[in-house]
Amino acid sequence: MNTNSERNSREPMTIPLLMIHYHQDLPSDLVLLVEQIAELAIDLRWTWSHAGDTVWKAMDPVLWEQSENPLVVLQNLSRERLEELNRNAQFKHHLNNLSEARSTYCNSCGWFGEVYADSPLKGVAYFSMEFGLGQALPLYAGGLGVLAGDYLKAASDLAVPVTAIGLLYQEGYFRQILDETLWQQEVYPYNDSSTMPLWPVLARNGTWLSIPIELPGRTVRLHVWEVRVGRIRLFLLDSNDPLNSPLDRGITSKLYGGGEEMRLVQEIALGIGGWRLIQALGLEVDVCHLNEGHAAFVTLERARCFKEKNQVDFWQALWATRPGNLFTTHTPVAAGFDSFPRDLITKYGVIYAKTLDVAPEKLIALGRRNGKDSDEPFNMAYLAARTCARVNGVSRLHRTVSQGIFQSLYPSWPQCEVPVTYVTNGVHVPSWDSPWADEIWTRSCGKDRWLSSENSLTVAIESLDDEVLWDFCGQERADLVRRARQRLRRQFEHRALTTDTVQQVDQILDPNILTLGFARRFTAYKRPNLLLHDPERLINLLLNPEKPVQIVVAGKAHPNDTEGKRFIQQWANFAERQEIRKRVVFLEDYDIALAQEMVQGIDVWINTPLRPWEASGTSGMKVLVNGGLNLSELDGWWAEAHTPDVGWALGDGKTHHEPEWNHIEAEQLYRLLEEEIVPMFYNRDAAGIPRAWVAKVRASMSTLAPQFSTNRMVREYVEKLYMPAAIGFHNRIAQGGKIGKKLHRWNEQLVQFWNDVHLSNLSIFEESEGWTYEIQAYFGEISPESVEMQIYADPIEPDTAPVCLKMHQHARIPGTVNGYVYKGNINTTRPYTDFTPRVVACHHDALIPAENNLILWWSGDKVLS
Ligand SMILES: *Cc1c(COP(=O)(O)O)cnc(C)c1O
Repeated sequence: MNTNSERNSREPMTIPLLMIHYHQDLPSDLVLLVEQIAELAIDLRWTWSHAGDTVWKAMDPVLWEQSENPLVVLQNLSRERLEELNRNAQFKHHLNNLSEARSTYCNSCGWFGEVYADSPLKGVAYFSMEFGLGQALPLYAGGLGVLAGDYLKAASDLAVPVTAIGLLYQEGYFRQILDETLWQQEVYPYNDSSTMPLWPVLARNGTWLSIPIELPGRTVRLHVWEVRVGRIRLFLLDSNDPLNSPLDRGITSKLYGGGEEMRLVQEIALGIGGWRLIQALGLEVDVCHLNEGHAAFVTLERARCFKEKNQVDFWQALWATRPGNLFTTHTPVAAGFDSFPRDLITKYGVIYAKTLDVAPEKLIALGRRNGKDSDEPFNMAYLAARTCARVNGVSRLHRTVSQGIFQSLYPSWPQCEVPVTYVTNGVHVPSWDSPWADEIWTRSCGKDRWLSSENSLTVAIESLDDEVLWDFCGQERADLVRRARQRLRRQFEHRALTTDTVQQVDQILDPNILTLGFARRFTAYKRPNLLLHDPERLINLLLNPEKPVQIVVAGKAHPNDTEGKRFIQQWANFAERQEIRKRVVFLEDYDIALAQEMVQGIDVWINTPLRPWEASGTSGMKVLVNGGLNLSELDGWWAEAHTPDVGWALGDGKTHHEPEWNHIEAEQLYRLLEEEIVPMFYNRDAAGIPRAWVAKVRASMSTLAPQFSTNRMVREYVEKLYMPAAIGFHNRIAQGGKIGKKLHRWNEQLVQFWNDVHLSNLSIFEESEGWTYEIQAYFGEISPESVEMQIYADPIEPDTAPVCLKMHQHARIPGTVNGYVYKGNINTTRPYTDFTPRVVACHHDALIPAENNLILWWSGDKVLS
């Protein structure tokens, strides 16, 4: 990706700026040292390339442990310590190796460079409200942000030309502590940009680059920060500028904070500000990828820029740019989308419509199911679906669910044809693997294993022997137990529990017993209390003298979710019961760091969402590389990953609404644990190894870990969605958007005259192997080249393709304008009543029905001639 206009300086120049408060008047050799460390510390690649960990630790083990942020460690080193380090040959050697490895990494061409260097895909802009890249940059709330972070890391590893855009919040998200009544309290630490791995982006004239956005009555300036994620740059917009009004300074103060209006303004900042930033940086972008609908305004601003440059109107510009826009939806229910009431959207829409030179009602109609209903709220996901040519869900099941959600935008289309595809989520494996896992995967598959194809990994892991695998599971479990006790000790001290209790911490948990893990957002649909359905039955499992079980639980509830907080309290109370204290722990403040500790050490990861509410789920994928097994509802990713040899399934693969279903699944959960999981874990041979268990671990690691990685996911995005998007986009914008203009005209014509299209005189003839359909079609002012006559039949099996056959023009009907007889012959054993003729829009360059949803079905009788 090339940058020509407002190119910000590279790190070396900006590092002294970051350091300025800390290390003044250093001798030049120490300046060099500080610069070298800072260059490594501000590249978030250290969050997954653990090669640096020993260096950070060597600088100051206590500070490193406390902050988990090498920049903070560096800022707190005394001059004496810097001098010591500068004299330490081993330290310097290690540091030089790191710098060299980093530059080799950043300068190699990577997977994308090898395979797609000459492709039309030159740049992807990735927009997200949140990015979970680690504790050093806490700009995330949960799964969506963690996914965005993992995506960036994998895009870096694969050298895909991605630039990411987000917002810099002064308060990323809350930290959780439990009070004496075990009720969740939220703490909002302030993000201090000077201790975060980011630096200001400068404009050409040397001032801090700022991006203007117009809001009612004023223009707001958004400052720009840059974050380095290996090869990828993440830019963050920040309204906290003294030149903005106090209210506007707060636009980016809190992730998902404030009311409806604040959310709308944040989304304007991300979408409209985000695209202006791309322009200001002079980045070449062919594909805009919207991670959730929050950023949907970007598509409007992108069209506006195209309009200005090419002297076309807004609608022509939208037709030209739409194929370059991709929308990933993460929501399993329509209520999960952001939507804004009429008055609010009108207040902001009117100003922006003027900029676009379109009527406000027409602009606002883009976010409504029924554009003519002026009371309908403005829905960001509808806007995204209308302005992005491609939409994808995040698992196979979620695709089907999303087709149902977006069905209303495609009236009269069968649900299976609603244009939503899917790319199943993954996790960035090097961010989640334990040191033990890293070691055995490296031994079997090499250091760069996540950069190549998956098949070789499967084969290599399959050949690992039982002893090695079982030993590795044990080491990881012991690590988890050690770390969980550390956390518990801090929790107990914080709650000022008696010294006795604090001292008992070392008796809590046991490194040799079956360890279950449950960590997620505590909210009703995740059913975090399903395991507590029958506490006595759970206690029996935990306290079984020969086959004991222990559980590690963690998770936050949304600050306004009282029910979620009650679930937490229920678990925390349970964990305090004297008889099971050793076997159950609730760890506070679930975040990326705690998630890493848990997924690396547990034996079985439990996931109990109410199907189909888990769009994908990713925490269960994080245990795969570490030899953990999944026991999960057949929902999200597990619905496509589960086979009996890799884990356990809850539910029957169907959606249930009846209230007693929770009871049935709780029963199933206990039975699986009692009858299968616990016995299998403790069924040891003479060498002390549970062979059947280890076989499952091997199968899960070798087949699932590579498949549910972000490397697979990012490659799939590139090949399935970005490539066609880039090709489609370049096609449409060529020659000032010639094809875009043509499509716009074609569409207008169809919309205007569609009501005149009608069908008559269907005849059906029996053939030796099927049926022939013959029908008269009258298109009026619409040219027959603009439409297609088809015969359609629903799929017999769900999730398979429907039958759709193009009919051919057989004869012109004399005395008509565009009246024709169409014929189609179908080889089939299905009855003729299964098939129905229909007319749909058709254009070589358009995506149907994504870009034009007109359809007319034969609605008369079907009788055999
Ligand atoms: C992975 C992760 C999530 C998402 O997990 P789900 O399976 O979607 O619940 C949420 N929060 C943190 C901190 C994570 O690491």
